[in-house]
Order: sequence, then C-alpha cells, then structure tokens
Amino acid sequence: MFGPPGSGKGTYASRLSAKLGVPHISTGDLVREEIKNQTEMSKRINDYSSRGLLVPDNVICQLLQQRISQPDCNRGFILDGFPRTIPQARELETISTTDLVINLEVPDTIIIERLTSRLTCRACREIYNERFLKPRIEGKCDKCNGQLYHREDDQPSVIQRRLDLYREQTQPLLEYYGGKNQVRNVSNKEPGVLPEKVVEEIIQIIQMKRN
Ligand code: AMP
Repeated sequence: MFGPPGSGKGTYASRLSAKLGVPHISTGDLVREEIKNQTEMSKRINDYSSRGLLVPDNVICQLLQQRISQPDCNRGFILDGFPRTIPQARELETISTTDLVINLEVPDTIIIERLTSRLTCRACREIYNERFLKPRIEGKCDKCNGQLYHREDDQPSVIQRRLDLYREQTQPLLEYYGGKNQVRNVSNKEPGVLPEKVVEEIIQIIQMKRN
C-alpha cells in the first residue's frame, strides 16, 4: 500500500488483510511496538519518529526482515509504510518479491483534515476518525474495546514535515515501481468516502492482476 501519511494505507490494509487472509505489516506499528517495549533500539528510533523523521534504513529493514520471517508471512503479506526510500526498495528485493503497488492519491487538504482528527487503538492499532470514521462507543475500539488516542506525530507541525519527506524521499519510488509495471492508482478525493468502497476497488485490481 503506497501513498502519503493519512492516505488510508492502514485503514485499507487492515480490511484487505481480513478479506485476503494474509497479514498486514505496518512498519510504523513495528516502530511503535519497539518504543512501547523499550527495546535496545527504541531510544534511537524514538528520536526520529517522534519528530516525523524517517528511521534509518538499516534499522527499519532489520525490523521488517524479522517480521517477514514469521511463518504467517509464508503465503504473502500486505506492506503498509514500507518501502519509503529507494535503498529500502532495493533491500526488499533481496528478502522478498513485490506483486503490486496500490498508489493512493489523496489531496493534501484532505490528508491534513484526516490526520488531525485520526484516532488509533492503543491495543490493536485499528484506525478511526473523530469526524469521518467514528467508533461505535466514543474513545473505544469497536474491535477490541481498547482505548483510542491521537498519535504523537499527528500534530499539524509534524504532519507537514512528514508530507514534505514523503514528496522528497518516498514519491520517487513510484517511478521505480512504475518501471516494473506494478503501480495501480486509486484516487480518493472525498474525505468521508467509505473504506469498504475503496477496498472493493483494490480487490478488483488484485483480481485483474491475477487473471
Ligand atoms: P507510519 O505509521 O507509517 O506513519 O510511521 C510512523 C513513523 O515510523 C514514521 O514517521 C517513521 O518515523 C517511522 N517509519 C515507519 N516506516 C518507516 C520506513 N519504511 N522507513 C523509515 N521510517 C519509518
């Protein structure tokens, strides 16, 4: 799943994972898990991620490699938030293959609106929105009843830095994968479009690629 922060990568990947029966791997979640567990790496990682900066390639590639080596990834997986740089894409090629890149196209105005009102479950990481995708019970996750919170890096000053970094370092990957004929664009210009509708569109794209 490819696209700027707030384009819906996590929201769609979580639903696709349930429908397709393959794991959803968010490198942002792997990073937050390290920080929560106060591992050896966590202090170094937090210095970057709390400021909206990218974690060094070697660190993030190590986290991804550990995750991909788990048996549940044998049948494939959905990557969300990885790769974010050309060196990461090259590293990915040494550990796995890529079939399809779903590029989510969303205008910046909608991204900023979504991120400032985004809520995340502390326990299972499910994503909600105070305005567009409300939980059934305020402050509680529909799936696991966990507590919902605003991510530290979802503040206006940090959001702008994350968007700038996306344009500079991550967007060039579209050309990289475009050259392999793996990119399919999914446009989403309405802030409140139902995730299920977008997921349906992505599933059709996957089926067309399979046939
Ligand atoms: P995300 O949840 O995808 O927005 O990621 C949250 C934060 O984790 C990012 O702002 C980065 O600091 C870090 N991060 C996640 N994925 C990567 C990646 N592929 N490369 C570098 N840093 C990453």
